[in-house]
Amino acid sequence: MKKILVCRETDPRETRTPLIPDDIKRLISMGYEVTAVKGTGIKSGFPDEAYEKAGARLVSSNEEGYKGSEIVLRIMKPESIEGIESGALHLSYLDPFNEKELLGNMAAAGLQTVSLEMIPRTTLAQKMDVQSSQTSLAGYVAVVNAAARLPKILPMMVTPSGTINPARVFIIGVGVAGLQAIATAKRLGARVDAFDTRPVVEEQVKSLGASFVKIDLGEMSQTDQGYAKELTPEQIARQQEAQAKVCERSNIVITTAKVFGRKAPRLIKKDVLDRMMPGSIVVDMAVSTGGNVEGSKLFEDVVTDNGVTIMSGDLLERQVPYDASKMLSGNFTAFLTHFYDKETRELKVDLNDEIMRGCLLTQGGEIIHERFKN
Ligand code: NAD
Repeated sequence: MKKILVCRETDPRETRTPLIPDDIKRLISMGYEVTAVKGTGIKSGFPDEAYEKAGARLVSSNEEGYKGSEIVLRIMKPESIEGIESGALHLSYLDPFNEKELLGNMAAAGLQTVSLEMIPRTTLAQKMDVQSSQTSLAGYVAVVNAAARLPKILPMMVTPSGTINPARVFIIGVGVAGLQAIATAKRLGARVDAFDTRPVVEEQVKSLGASFVKIDLGEMSQTDQGYAKELTPEQIARQQEAQAKVCERSNIVITTAKVFGRKAPRLIKKDVLDRMMPGSIVVDMAVSTGGNVEGSKLFEDVVTDNGVTIMSGDLLERQVPYDASKMLSGNFTAFLTHFYDKETRELKVDLNDEIMRGCLLTQGGEIIHERFKN
């Protein structure tokens, strides 16, 4: 397999491209052949001419490109798979826990389907980890967006006209997004508190100069992939109560708490929003998986009666598409390089490799991944 198609995303809100010209040049020098759909990089700052100069053949539509393509790269799950050739390796986000029908259709169409969400979190696979690369940028954007809306500056300022206290920022959930949000808020001069249920996080929070909020939820641990375990309703209630005071005194609250493959925990309810200061900003980065914050809406800002703005924190990486595309492209390129067979000068779908076993969901007309088989 060596014929790659770089799709153009169909959602008009999407701004990123899966592969940028510099990486295309590298892949072509390895032996890959690349076709790109016109306009794929236009919103992220990579014009068609740059794709052509890098050696890509340009086509007018995804459908035109499907003909003869053996490896199909796109970002979001496909709206339609019609025309993709049987046997092709299809890489994209898939939301596989919620997209059983799509998964079944992709299997029935004979596709070899890679779900980007399922790439294992191992040291070797780190450079292919789109979740980390994109979420990290989103954590940065969340703070920048909140700071731009806040009726107050973030740093402390001592001036002849008076002293301004630093803004207080509370980050709930300190994974990839949370760590980047802490680092960004600190750089902007805010005073930062943070909380996560995984005990290993406390040291990381402190090393970034933020304070760790201690909440006793009993014995806590994480999965072998580094993900949080789901809390019981009693533990969630205890957490809600303990963190309410921190929310009340914070100018910005950013929630990033997710539990892999499950609904996000509801951590901030209306009673806490009611007690927050008018003008405060809450960014819910778990809004697409159920929401950490009561009343948050996907891709919309909501202002509560007492003047708290709840911002949608989904897919914020789309606001920095140049860097987001660069990182995504690096992830795809690492994947295509890892599975490149030097002898045949082609990609080999190698199920003896634990990365491929972790993320390949369909093959030979069937769903083959243990987690989704039934
Ligand atoms: P995630 O997006 O699943 O969740 C975000 C954060 O929310 C996590 O830190 C989680 O512990 C936290 N959380 C869940 N329930 C919570 C609750 N009730 N209250 C507060 N916080 C809650 O996780 P993620 O950001 O993708 O990463 C989780 C960990 O995996 C991180 O430590 C990260 O460094 C690690 N990781 C490792 C690799 C690798 O080794 N290749 C790659 C990516 C991430």
